[in-house]
Amino acid sequence: MRRVLILGGTAEARALAAELSGRGVHVVSSLAGRVSNPRLPVGEVREGGFGGPDGLAAWLAAERIDALVDATHPFAARMTASAAEASARTGVPLLVLRRPGWREGPGDTWQRVPSLHAAAARLSETATRLSGTRLSEAAARPGGGPLRVFLTTGRRSLPVFTGRAGVWLLARSVDPPEPPLPDNVHVLLDRGPYTVEGERALIREHRLDVLVTKDSGGPMTTAKLVAARELGLPVIMVDRPPPPSGVRLVETAAAAAAWAQG
Ligand code: NAP
Repeated sequence: MRRVLILGGTAEARALAAELSGRGVHVVSSLAGRVSNPRLPVGEVREGGFGGPDGLAAWLAAERIDALVDATHPFAARMTASAAEASARTGVPLLVLRRPGWREGPGDTWQRVPSLHAAAARLSETATRLSGTRLSEAAARPGGGPLRVFLTTGRRSLPVFTGRAGVWLLARSVDPPEPPLPDNVHVLLDRGPYTVEGERALIREHRLDVLVTKDSGGPMTTAKLVAARELGLPVIMVDRPPPPSGVRLVETAAAAAAWAQG
């Protein structure tokens, strides 16, 4: 029986596991083990890191894996790099399944930035600009006071954004961030699914000025972008890290299933 390892943690990885299992392929899905109570794919599941490319290469050989699909989140760059290296070393073919990124449309006001640090710097610049013009531009903002930021980049990115003068954060994450948290951070624990109506209400309730998000792509978290468009909220969009050079890429679970079936 053909044996496929799926590096998962995404909806696409779960769809692929279901599709391949239905086609009689033996699937092992791997999760990093970071999220409490994760959504589980069908079939065999293992959890936890492999110990870098060496550990993954050893695991692929020991488990006699025929094909490897990296279906991790587009921002899980270390895992993708590790998969590319382990594949090159072992000869186990690798496919990267990466859903398409989001595109700015009519009515959107997006600023693309290359990294989380660049997004945080952009917030500081904006806060400084607003504090220098408090009697005009800032006073006209409904909230007044600090720049009120809707931060959806994940709990582990929070330290990049805290401690910035004139910036207040509504940080939404699945699991709680590491304490201690500064006073100017309000944590909202939620894992979705989100609705446009709900996101609109949240933006209004917290009088948010700007949304910061990673370009995760996919349909599961687009409601915030629609709500931002409707309410004229600017968006700081963090670009994805580029994939390792030379890797084979597809955008859908169906395309990955066709490849992985062999
Ligand atoms: P990362 O920075 O690329 O990975 C860090 C380390 O975690 C890897 O070197 C690897 O450890 C381990 N790891 C990551 N994904 C793994 C997997 N599927 N199975 C086994 N080990 C894994 O990744 P991350 O950004 O922390 O993301 C961790 C997981 O959460 C990923 O599986 C990803 O699909 C999921 N996720 C991430 C995001 C995000 O925004 N980054 C969002 C939603 C879901 P070793 O080197 O020891 O093998």
